[in-house]
This record gives sequence, C-alpha cells and structure tokens, in this order.
Amino acid sequence: MPAASSERALFLDRDGVINVDHGYVHTPEKFELIDGIGEVMQHFARAGYLLIIVTNQAGIARGYYTEEEFLRFDAWMRGELNRLLAVTIARTYYAPHHPEGVVDRFRGESDLRKPNPGMLLAAARDFSLNLGRSVLLGDKESDVVAGKKAGVGLNVLYAACGAPAQTIADRVVLSVSEIIDVRPT
Ligand SMILES: [Mg+2]
Repeated sequence: MPAASSERALFLDRDGVINVDHGYVHTPEKFELIDGIGEVMQHFARAGYLLIIVTNQAGIARGYYTEEEFLRFDAWMRGELNRLLAVTIARTYYAPHHPEGVVDRFRGESDLRKPNPGMLLAAARDFSLNLGRSVLLGDKESDVVAGKKAGVGLNVLYAACGAPAQTIADRVVLSVSEIIDVRPT
C-alpha cells in the first residue's frame, strides 16, 4: 500500500479572493488585487503548500470571452503574481460551463463547476495531494461546498461583507489575512 501523500495545497478561488470581483474579469485593466492576498500566498508557499487556483468561468459559456482569452489573461495574471510577489501558481483549474451558456460545447452541467468537486479532485490526482491536509479559501458558499465534497481539511469562507447567517465553512474570515492564523500546522 502506498504511503499517504504529504503534499498539500492552498486552493484559491479567483474572483473575489485573488482579484476584486468586478464581474467576469478577463483583462489586465480590470485586475485589482485583494488586500492581503499577496501575503497569504507568500505565507502558504513558504510553509510548503502548492498554490492552486480553482475558478468557475461561466463567462466562457455565456460568450462574454473565449477560452483563449481566459487563458491569455490567466497567463498574464500568473506572471504578474510572480513578478510582484515572487509566488508561483502551480496550476489554474477552470470550469467553463454553465447550464444557460450560449456556446454549445460549454452549455450544461459539469462535474468541474463548483459546488461540484471536480476541479479539486483533478488537482488531487495531478499533484498527488493529501486533501485532508489541504486548505481552501473562497468567497462563496459554493466554494466551501466543493471543498467539503472533495474532502479538503479546512474550508475557509472569506466574507467581506460580514459573516453569513448560515454556512458549512469550517471558518469564516472577514479579511483574507486572517487565514494565516487559522491554518492547520
Ligand atoms: Mg469568487
């Protein structure tokens, strides 16, 4: 029997966690870093976590931008994070589908689209992650639902506008920096 992996990740939602959610952001002009997230990424990277983005991108299914435009922006953003903060994103997983999409091949349900856990499970396979030792940071309930379904050990909800009345998150933080104090050792 193979030994359980010790590799762990910090899963980051993108819009509303890394960049301010201005709505379907896909150009550098609309990219605005969330306060404190740079230090969070640096902290987790130093502690040995892989940094992995997991992002729903219904804008692709809706025809607001193409998959190629998304990928171009993703490459630019990851370059900026590396240049400005010296952090490396191990991979970006994205779910281009939406049930009401206008682009035929992306219309419909998908295991990848949060709250489904497909992107997290794919990352676990690709990087041999120990999900139980991994951490997820999201700003929507669908993020933490996906994390719970996948078996992520610590699912943190960033609630910029105050804690919600109900959540299944393991922890709620009102600024992203607080996650540094709640991560498991
Ligand atoms: Mg979000």
